[in-house]
Amino acid sequence: MQQTMLENLKQSQNLKLLSQLSKMTQKKLKEPLNSQNYYDNAADWRYMSPTLFKRFMACEFSALHALENPVENDAEALIVGNFVHSYFESKEAHEAFIDAHSSSINGKNGKPKAAYVKAQKMINRLDSWHAFKAAYQGEKEAIVTGNLFGVDWKGKIDCLNVEAGLFFDIKTTRSIQDHIWNEETRTKENFIIRYNYTLQMAAYKTMLEQMYGHEFTPVVIAVSKEDHPDIQMISFDGYDFDQDLQLIKDNQEHIMNVIYGKAEPFKCGHCDYCKDTKQPTDVISVLDL
Ligand SMILES: [Zn+2]
Repeated sequence: MQQTMLENLKQSQNLKLLSQLSKMTQKKLKEPLNSQNYYDNAADWRYMSPTLFKRFMACEFSALHALENPVENDAEALIVGNFVHSYFESKEAHEAFIDAHSSSINGKNGKPKAAYVKAQKMINRLDSWHAFKAAYQGEKEAIVTGNLFGVDWKGKIDCLNVEAGLFFDIKTTRSIQDHIWNEETRTKENFIIRYNYTLQMAAYKTMLEQMYGHEFTPVVIAVSKEDHPDIQMISFDGYDFDQDLQLIKDNQEHIMNVIYGKAEPFKCGHCDYCKDTKQPTDVISVLDL
């Protein structure tokens, strides 16, 4: 069913986007996509990705600014997440990560900061989870590429088992069970839905199926940031990825036009960059505030 839908969407895709991409000459990737250049700004100009797409969906104005003026993202939540990920990649990767980030990990007293003490607890909990250790087999940090509705996409998969048609993604979250309010849908949603991880899974699944010609099933390995970390494997059984692919199809052309200066970026009005740059000229009544 999904395959047919995808084929139909592909046939109706706007191929003009591809030629726009190939004309993009300012920031070219010097080598094919690899683990060294995956997060480079040039790779973001060359490939769409779930992260970049979600950033543009949230605020085009801010996403475009970040793409044009890249700065290293040193947010603690990101580094903590990568600290956990690197452990399950390999011993060497984890040691290299700690070496590279020792000033972020350790406090002035030389001991790990609270966030990393917590992250170590999460690692220990996952490490002693028998079913996870048995299931989490395959290539770690596997880079995938594919074409979604005329645009080249990239992805990095935590653990890929091509033969079994399985791929795993470790997600660290405040709580696995709690539902989080979504102002847009006016409902409470679980963390997978709320943070649009379904779109990431749909994109990865599509790219993998293009690369290998058989079906792939995503599995999320969730671990909570609670004092006593909770753990759960989460499948997408019964979930329809067509809605995520449709969201990409419906919005991608406009986003590509924004990236290539052919359309004005939409300002969300409430993100950090919108607040930093706004110049309000209107006056609003206290009753409307
Ligand atoms: Zn904004």
